[in-house]
Amino acid sequence: MLKIENLHAKVEDNDILKGLNIEVKAGEVHAIMGPNGAGKSTLASVVTGNENYEVTEGSITLEGEDLSELGPDERAHKGVFLSFQYPVEIPGVTVTNFIKTAINAKRKAQGLEDMPAAEMLKKIKEKAALLEIDKTFLSRSLNEGFSGGEKKRNEIFQMAMLEPKLAILDETDSGLDIDALRIVANGVNKLKSKDNAVVVITHYQRLLDYIVPDFVHVLADGKIVKSGGKELALELEAKGYDWLK
Ligand code: ADP
Ligand code: MG
Ligand code: MG
Repeated sequence: MLKIENLHAKVEDNDILKGLNIEVKAGEVHAIMGPNGAGKSTLASVVTGNENYEVTEGSITLEGEDLSELGPDERAHKGVFLSFQYPVEIPGVTVTNFIKTAINAKRKAQGLEDMPAAEMLKKIKEKAALLEIDKTFLSRSLNEGFSGGEKKRNEIFQMAMLEPKLAILDETDSGLDIDALRIVANGVNKLKSKDNAVVVITHYQRLLDYIVPDFVHVLADGKIVKSGGKELALELEAKGYDWLK
């Protein structure tokens, strides 16, 4: 699904990623952990095509296709999804209307007509039921006055509706409360399939009590310095990151 080889990237003249390799196959869940400032969010930004970051070496492919010349929208239309760390508030645009627009934009990029209204409605109902999201939530203005848990619920709903091939969830260091953790984990567990892949970036071993990853990687100083199974997360929790240097 995703193959990254010898990736080097910089932001504002600082080298952040320094030869990073990772391969994520369809059906797998990978966790990326690592100390603050290691480059985890940079990796997510670079994979999704954020133009503030410059790739100076290496390659990123999705299902064998080189992503380097594609902008963020094109990558999204090819099935790359990144959770929003800092979701924007859009007064007057409901959760439902936002996702309808996103879905139809993706279809348009694929040369398809808008999704018929009845099909859209059916899909919204299905996904909302799966994620235990109620009707009132769907008609609220996007992110306006949302609690941390509600923002996560909205993100996961977007992910469910867009059905990305590759979902990257950057859970950052900002306090995810236990509700938000459960919402994210529940969503990922319900949405993962043999045809998609999930990369969860987290500072916290705790999230991995709920989402059981197939592989855990440690990113330190711009490289993957260690990879293992789910037990590696527990080892990191106990020992920290210093022993890996
Ligand atoms: P992590 O997510 O692992 O905590 P980041 O990828 O956010 O790490 O940051 C890696 C390094 O890149 C840090 O030293 C950070 O200060 C720097 N960095 C990230 N984004 C920017 C930016 N837009 N401008 C300048 N420096 C940045
Ligand atoms: Mg950080
Ligand atoms: Mg980060």
